[in-house]
Amino acid sequence: MLTDAPPRKANRAGFIESDQTRTLDLPQDGSLLTVTKSIESAMRRGGSTDVRRTCGEFLVIASEFYEVPACGVRVLAARPLRVREQWTTELFGDYSPETMLIRLWMRTAVRKAITSFGTFLSTLCHEFCHHLDLQKFGFKDSWHTRGFYERVAVLYHHARGTPIKTLFWLPVAGGRWRIDWRRTNRPRRTDAASG
Ligand SMILES: [Zn+2]
Repeated sequence: MLTDAPPRKANRAGFIESDQTRTLDLPQDGSLLTVTKSIESAMRRGGSTDVRRTCGEFLVIASEFYEVPACGVRVLAARPLRVREQWTTELFGDYSPETMLIRLWMRTAVRKAITSFGTFLSTLCHEFCHHLDLQKFGFKDSWHTRGFYERVAVLYHHARGTPIKTLFWLPVAGGRWRIDWRRTNRPRRTDAASG
């Protein structure tokens, strides 16, 4: 994961706000967890109709909770050949701000490999966070900032019922950041006395 370069002056304040907004409120009633399980079983059965329906339910619950207009979702069997790449390459889905439509695909374009459930859910959360950026936070654009990726991770782990990981970042050229996977994936030491 790599962040976008900071924009020129006009939008820089919004970019910084996005970068520094590292978390999201989460519904506490377990509803996302339940609907996520339905997405997982729909994927296991393999039919895109059920996957689309359950993703739609996920988005209705999430949109109501965040008080944003519901966005539509389309689930495609494979990645379209021509994908608009407004921000950076979206490998497993995209979001159109004009139509508020999320598209997800169940297979990658090149190797036609089946998208894993984890990747699929994380893409759904990623695209929904673009929707939140524009409809809830009111950012001028939905940049891939460190904060953006962290909000996606908070939503993803909540929906999946898995513990949130602290993301560690390394600076790269041009004011961008990439995730330091070695540090991020290092098992957390719970026993302070060791070593
Ligand atoms: Zn994106």
